[in-house]
Amino acid sequence: MSEIQRDREEALQALRDTITACRVCRDAPARGPRDRLPHEPRPVPVLSSSARILIAGQAPGLRVHETGIPFNDASGDRLRQWLAVDRDEFYDPDRFAIVPMGFCFPGYDGHGGDLPPRRECAPLWRARVIAAMPQIELVLAIGQYAQTWHLGRARAPSMTETVRNWRSYLSVERFPAVLPLPHPSWRNSGWLKKNPWFEAELLPVLRERVKLLKM
Ligand code: SF4
Repeated sequence: MSEIQRDREEALQALRDTITACRVCRDAPARGPRDRLPHEPRPVPVLSSSARILIAGQAPGLRVHETGIPFNDASGDRLRQWLAVDRDEFYDPDRFAIVPMGFCFPGYDGHGGDLPPRRECAPLWRARVIAAMPQIELVLAIGQYAQTWHLGRARAPSMTETVRNWRSYLSVERFPAVLPLPHPSWRNSGWLKKNPWFEAELLPVLRERVKLLKM
């Protein structure tokens, strides 16, 4: 390992440790004490000095919160199927960095769905995390929050339109490249049925890129 590589590893480890120790949403929530995270935060970042693919997810669900393993649920199974990788490859930090928009499980809304990523998280951590991994060549922007952050004004008004525009995002000069995806949750099974072009046209390109960059 070169000295530069060692320095980067140390910097990433320091950042990982700092994020893991973060308790902002419990101790100093942006919208005041009533918006305190109702459970102990458990940030789950997978940072890497060598992965060329970044999985930019939304926020961990309860199962991920309990196990400390990202995408360790049915959504993860579907995502791995989309990427055509097995669990060993998916959890190899030399292949994939996994950085959700909110590092901690945000809890449930009144209908039993997961709340959005905590608003405190991305402003606090995301720019530093992305800057610490300059080798990333492809960002898989999953869901509207990641798409808003990684595509900025280029994002279309809706998640569907943004994903439908995937070719235009890949065709422009952008480093890293950004490929928008819907969330792989079972809640999006209806969306997948309504948008068959996603599996027929986007997934083959996604798999091709992943195959090339995971080496
Ligand atoms: S969600 Fe982000 S900002 Fe909030 S406690 Fe977890 S790591 Fe910290």
